[in-house]
Amino acid sequence: MRALSLPARGSATLRRFSTRAGTGSGTDTSVPGAMLTAASLGARYGASRVLWNVDLHVQPGEIVTLLGANGAGKTTFLHTVMGLVQMTSGHIYYGERDIARQTPEARVTGGIALCPEGRRIFARMTVEENLRLGAGLKHQHTYDENAAYVFELFPALEGLQDKMAGLLSGGEQQMLAVGRALMSKPKLLLLDEPSLGLAPKIVRLIFELIQRLREQGVTILLVEQNVRMALLIADRGYVINTGRIELSGTADELRENTSVEEAYLGLAVQT
Ligand code: ATP
Repeated sequence: MRALSLPARGSATLRRFSTRAGTGSGTDTSVPGAMLTAASLGARYGASRVLWNVDLHVQPGEIVTLLGANGAGKTTFLHTVMGLVQMTSGHIYYGERDIARQTPEARVTGGIALCPEGRRIFARMTVEENLRLGAGLKHQHTYDENAAYVFELFPALEGLQDKMAGLLSGGEQQMLAVGRALMSKPKLLLLDEPSLGLAPKIVRLIFELIQRLREQGVTILLVEQNVRMALLIADRGYVINTGRIELSGTADELRENTSVEEAYLGLAVQT
């Protein structure tokens, strides 16, 4: 596990993106070997276009972070990958398979899971009931096995199984939200702002758990506004600005570049 230490500053070799038209060609534009490829991806809400020709990929075993200010399009991107927002152009590949026409349920069955922003746990249901919902129909018969896997990662949850989820602390609720996503045994986990609203100590715990998940073979796409912490655990990152990918690079390249925070994110740096 990489130690959570503050990075040194210096120059960076970052890739700057220019907008290009969607392929529309029907040819395979997946990145070789990638678990997830978004190629020239576009999405809109009604008449309002939100994503423009987004190119992003995640290799198996990576932690990739998608950074950006409020409203940049991060959540929309994750929802488009899950099939919750209709894409309007481009391609999404899971491995080499174009999953654009798959339902969200099929994507979950295929091995993609989303831990949504704001946790979205069911407050009036118990911890166990929330976990069972995450398991879905396909994994009910392996509930005990999958729950054991979650409790190994989050031992604090095991003794809370009968407790109403709404009575958990913020940190416990975040663990439950991640645990619920893990109940479908995903290969690719999409995490949307897991540190949001949590105390710094709990944030560190959550980030350490994300590193452990990767060590256990889960590939992770992490949306975060806590830039410093995200770049400490990520291998690579992308910066999205008003729906367009504007920069990408290794985490080292991005964190050595103060302009990432200043020019694109405009965020206070939290540790
Ligand atoms: P945040 O960190 O604030 O969640 P974000 O980068 O995740 O920001 P999105 O939530 O993807 O950004 O929002 C991108 C844009 O799409 C914003 O302008 C937002 O207002 C708009 N938007 C988001 N959801 C909807 C929706 N359901 N209908 C219409 N517009 C939406």
